[in-house]
Amino acid sequence: SATPVNVTVTGAAGQIGYALLFRIASGQMLGADTPVRLRLLEIPQGVKAAEGTAMELDDCAFPLLAGIDIHDEPRAAFDGVNVALLVGARPRGPGMERGDLLAANGGIFKPQGAAINAGAAYDVRVLVVGNPANTNALIAQAHAPDVPASRFTAMTRLDHNRALTQVAKKAGVPVADVRRLTIWGNHSATQYPDLFHADVAGRPGVELTEDRTWLEDDFIPTVAKRGAAIIDARGASSAASAANAAIDHVHDWVHGTPEGDWTSAGIVSDGSYGVPEGLISSFPVTSSGGDWEIVQGLEVGELSRVKIDASVAELVQERDAVRELGLL
Ligand code: NDP
Repeated sequence: SATPVNVTVTGAAGQIGYALLFRIASGQMLGADTPVRLRLLEIPQGVKAAEGTAMELDDCAFPLLAGIDIHDEPRAAFDGVNVALLVGARPRGPGMERGDLLAANGGIFKPQGAAINAGAAYDVRVLVVGNPANTNALIAQAHAPDVPASRFTAMTRLDHNRALTQVAKKAGVPVADVRRLTIWGNHSATQYPDLFHADVAGRPGVELTEDRTWLEDDFIPTVAKRGAAIIDARGASSAASAANAAIDHVHDWVHGTPEGDWTSAGIVSDGSYGVPEGLISSFPVTSSGGDWEIVQGLEVGELSRVKIDASVAELVQERDAVRELGLL
């Protein structure tokens, strides 16, 4: 039988981890023919809860689950890793300045990047979910000089999926009929969901953009502020949909995107669309052969230009702040 794929999940005892691990172990991320070995990384206070989750994983008797190891130290957790899901991060506490948040996360993502550099398998693929995801991914990537930069990505798939459903509802079509949406920029309130190139049940998405009030006052803020709306309604953050998006991201990275469509992911910029080279920004992307590629040649209109530039400016600020902190 096939050699198991080593999947390391950090923050494994958290809410997203709890929604994610069972789906990885059931084969929904890497496919029904691919056995997985789970490596759970937690901070020492999280280890006992991770052990509880591991007991439940055992109790599912997943045929594809080849084993579970629990770690509180990154070197061991990332040794031989093929797929790394960096979920654990330092949440923004009350009164916490952005600089404090970036510094706290630097203390997490710098050693994790170094551990990936030291021990990961040659084909390692890294998805950062923990916020601020784009900049955390940049920090980890900067400390893994021997790993191709393209292997470090940040999750904007949840924003992408949220946008798909908003458009489907507005147009009154099934969500499967909405294609070619794009999330640009930072996974933050400045992100820009773009439907100028969308295909909505065979009609150009640009028709929807003619209703500027809906576009600017409803669609864009609804997608960008969806996380807060869910906390408001549930009294807890959007863990299941975030885990679902992580599954989608890795699935498409490994298995490819469907012909005629694209998705969104935070990947290292090559300078496309005026995004400074080296930043980890969300783009329209396709995947084949295990590599993401930025969709080229899209026309960027006036509204899109302003919105993309604003989000990218925020990424530049975050990069400069972590650079000043000595984290890059
Ligand atoms: P969650 O599992 O709910 O969230 C984890 C991270 O994902 C947060 O940074 C969160 O950002 C981010 N995130 C990204 N997208 C979303 C989304 N759509 N909805 C909600 N969150 C999103 O956090 P918990 O507090 O439940 O669990 C975190 C776990 O990580 C804890 O068990 C902790 O011990 C562990 N941890 C592990 C570390 C390690 O392994 N080295 C380091 C730090 C923590 P945001 O805060 O902006 O919501």
